[in-house]
Amino acid sequence: MMVNDGSMDKLSETVHVTSHEITHSYFPFYMGTNERKYAWMDEGWATMIPFDLQASLAPGYNPREAIVKGYSSFAGSEQDMPVMTLSYMMKWNSYRFASYSKPAVAYDQLRALIGRKNFDNALREFIARWNGKHPIPYDFFNTFNDYLKTDLNWFWKPWFFEKGYPDLAIKDVKVEDNKLKVLIKNEGNIPVPIELNISWQDGRKVNIPRSAAVWKDTDSTWIETGTSGNIEKIELGDPAIPDINKMNNYFELNRQSASK
Ligand SMILES: [Zn+2]
Repeated sequence: MMVNDGSMDKLSETVHVTSHEITHSYFPFYMGTNERKYAWMDEGWATMIPFDLQASLAPGYNPREAIVKGYSSFAGSEQDMPVMTLSYMMKWNSYRFASYSKPAVAYDQLRALIGRKNFDNALREFIARWNGKHPIPYDFFNTFNDYLKTDLNWFWKPWFFEKGYPDLAIKDVKVEDNKLKVLIKNEGNIPVPIELNISWQDGRKVNIPRSAAVWKDTDSTWIETGTSGNIEKIELGDPAIPDINKMNNYFELNRQSASK
């Protein structure tokens, strides 16, 4: 593949394409995934696996945030097809996002969900079990479920089988029993983690993260934290987490009422 690549003008582009093609040594050449039917089984990995390496080799380049931004702007559109759609049935943006961006973000979010160590070990197990064979998508899902002894079907279904989009929103904010309570709703169907940032007028800030696992059985959740003083702003989200609508990620409180 590298022989076929043109020369690039920027260091980040050279780093990107070279590390991408090296990853293809594993997918689909070490394990024979079917590029014609399930391009995401190699292109998704070749996009996601080098994220951290690319960022470290090309200062100022953040492929993770760039891919998340691109996917956020496309997700939920009528051309946004389920990742499981047969690759040869799709073209242009439908093919590109279902084969590269969405599965790459899904793999990255899978790593955030199960942790780096579990992710690396399960991925190695998948590679070891299917080296020299021809895994189909269910072999990937089943290997992770089986190796981790965890039923991740609630995660696989929206990310790989359904149309839809990620969109978390702040729905309500109240002060009760000396606690600040923030209601977060998953307006879409894609489970993504919560990053809630609260700042007070006196300069204090607190970050409250929650795993995407909160969406396994519900589509809304209250987050509580102690409160005193005047709240400046409540923000939801992170550049590494896809979200199609940022307008519902902010809550600027009236300073008088927030101080109660
Ligand atoms: Zn590729």
